[in-house]
Parts: sequence; structure tokens; C-alpha cells
Amino acid sequence: MDRAICPPLILVTMLLKDKVTIITGATRGIGKAIAVRFAQEGSHIAFCGRSRGEQMTAVENELQALGVKAKGYVADVSNLESCQQFVAQVLEDFGHLDCLINNAGITDDAAIKRMTEAQWDNVLNNDLKSVFFMTKSVQPAMWKQGFGSIVNISSVVGIGGNLNQANYAAAKAGIIGFTKTAVKEMGARNIRINVVAPGFIMTEMTGEIPEQMKQYWQTRIPLRRPGTPNEVANACLYYASELGSYNTGDVMHLCGGMEDA
Ligand code: NAP
Repeated sequence: MDRAICPPLILVTMLLKDKVTIITGATRGIGKAIAVRFAQEGSHIAFCGRSRGEQMTAVENELQALGVKAKGYVADVSNLESCQQFVAQVLEDFGHLDCLINNAGITDDAAIKRMTEAQWDNVLNNDLKSVFFMTKSVQPAMWKQGFGSIVNISSVVGIGGNLNQANYAAAKAGIIGFTKTAVKEMGARNIRINVVAPGFIMTEMTGEIPEQMKQYWQTRIPLRRPGTPNEVANACLYYASELGSYNTGDVMHLCGGMEDA
């Protein structure tokens, strides 16, 4: 056929068309970027934060404007009952679920000699127990349907450690051990679970770091710049979609080549 009459066909496919993705902690930062990126690829989005404020409504509106169904839920992922209620409500509202992104996390820094038990528990509960609770909550639905993809957001701090972050490093390292085990338990049901371990990403969480410390961190990054939330979102998209159909148990270091990571 004459190419002038029939121009080359450009196939535009959406990687997550009509999938349902749960994202924990998507009221801002990396979680929000994942929500927007996944919605651009056609996924419906159920996300949570600890309160229903303007940020949650703004994210809902932004996602809906991309033509997908999107709903924010108030859920505390450090609490098992809250996670179970959240997932049950999503299944009722959306009908099914395909992907889970365990993104919610906090920091509460101090040197070990000054760190209180409350600080330790606070970070372990929010950053590690939450991953166990959410995985446990989605597992029955994914197991029954015989597929699912989970992406856990760890950190390079969980691999190389960091001053004043023993609690955070322990939680983020724990996510990796948890994932390696979950992979073995769930792989036979076609449930894939991968870890993305970002380095220094510009969000509100890192906004609190003093300027001098930021400069120091940047000298340790061969690419000489922090990462963006969208770059983390792209890595999650790879694992959550069919692009990563043979990946499970991976730990992707997403850190611009940072030392010790
Ligand atoms: P952020 O801007 O502080 O956002 C954290 C999100 O988690 C918010 O939406 C927050 O929502 C939610 N959240 C926190 N605790 C929660 C809980 N118990 N239940 C439900 N939602 C909760 O953080 P970020 O920088 O985007 O980080 C996102 C993830 O990436 C975290 O796991 C973090 O450890 C990891 N990470 C970040 C970096 C970085 O450089 N930024 C590097 C490596 C890894 P509400 O406040 O509305 O509850």
C-alpha cells in the first residue's frame, strides 16, 4: 500500500488500562507522583493518607481529570484493622485490585544514644509493619484471582545505613527481607513483589534536611543531582505493569549511582 495514502500506524497503548492500583500515602510526594503516572497509563487509583484534608481532595481531582476513577481513603497503615478495612472498601468500590504500592513512610531521626523506644517503634510501625499489614490485607484477593503485583518502597538507607536513622534503616532493610520471603510464598500464584530503593529524592520529606547536609549528599551522587518523584514512579510502573512480567524479588537501587547504595 502507498505509504503516502496510509501513514504508518502508531499504536498508543496504555500500560495499565483498567487496572486497579492501591497506593499507600499518596497525598503528596512520591506516592502522589506514582498515582499520577499510573493514572496516565489508565489505572484506576485508590490511595490513602491519615486524614482527609485539602491535599487528598486535590489529588482525587487531579487523577479524575486524567479520566480514571480515583478515590482517597483515610487509613492508618500502621494499624492492621485500618488496613483491612481500607482494602475491603476498595474492593467494594472498585470491584477488584491488581497492584499495591506500599509507599507510605515517615522518618523520626536521632542518634542511637538519644533515640527513644517511642521513636524506634514509631518508624518501625509506620514503615515496616505497614508493609506486612497491607500485603496481608491484599493477599486473599490476589491469591484467589491468581495474579497481582506489589511494589514496596524501601530506601538506599536500608542498604547502606545513614547517620541518625537506625530506626529508618532497620525498617527499610526489613522491607527487603520481608519481600524476599513473600516472593517465595506467593510466586506460585503469579503474585510478583519487587522493591524500589530510592536514594535522595526531592520531596517534603527531604525538604526538611539542612542545606549543608543536602550538599554533602549530592557530592556522593555521581549524577550530581537528586532524583525526582516521577523517576521513582517510572520504576514502579515497570514492575507493576507487564513490562516487568518476569521480575519478582528484585531490589532496584534508584539513586543516581550513590556510593554505599
Ligand atoms: P512524604 O512526602 O512525607 O509523604 C509520605 C506520605 O505517606 C504522605 O502521603 C502521608 O500522608 C503518608 N503516610 C505516612 N504515614 C502514614 C500512615 N501511617 N498511614 C497512611 N499514610 C501515611 O514522603 P516521600 O518523600 O514522598 O516518601 C515516600 C516513601 O518513599 C516513603 O516510604 C519514604 O521512606 C520513601 N523514600 C523517600 C525518599 C526521599 O528522598 N524522599 C528516599 C527513599 C525512600 P498523610 O501525611 O496525609 O497521612
